[in-house]
This record gives sequence, structure tokens and C-alpha cells, in this order.
Amino acid sequence: MYTQVCPRCQGRGKIIGRKCHLCNAQKIIPGVEEFTLRIVPGTQSNSDLRYINMGDERMQGAPSDIVFQLV
Ligand SMILES: [Zn+2]
Repeated sequence: MYTQVCPRCQGRGKIIGRKCHLCNAQKIIPGVEEFTLRIVPGTQSNSDLRYINMGDERMQGAPSDIVFQLV
């Protein structure tokens, strides 16, 4: 296990004045596992792979999600 500077808050621990929830204000996160795209064999085309809250921080409400669509 290794850590890397949180790519969302760039090691600041917060974004737009709010606590970065990716690293939980720890400024570092373990490894890069969370960013590995996992596609299970047999996944159907047009399936959506949704990464909750991994999108850009927004000023209000929850962060956006990242959705990969298999085509
Ligand atoms: Zn962070």
C-alpha cells in the first residue's frame, strides 16, 4: 500500500472551502485503486460504469458522478 497526493484537492484537503471527501481531508489517498476502471467480463455493451462522487466538485449539492459508457 502506498499513498499519493489526493488528485482532487491537490493535497489541500479541501475544495472550494469544503472538506475534500475523496481523501476525507487527509490530503493523501491510498494508491490508485479507486481510479482503476474495472470491467467485469461479460459486461454488456451500453452498460454504464458509474463512479459516484468522483466527478468535479460543485459549488452546491453533491459532487457529480463520472459515468463511463461501454459501447
Ligand atoms: Zn482530497
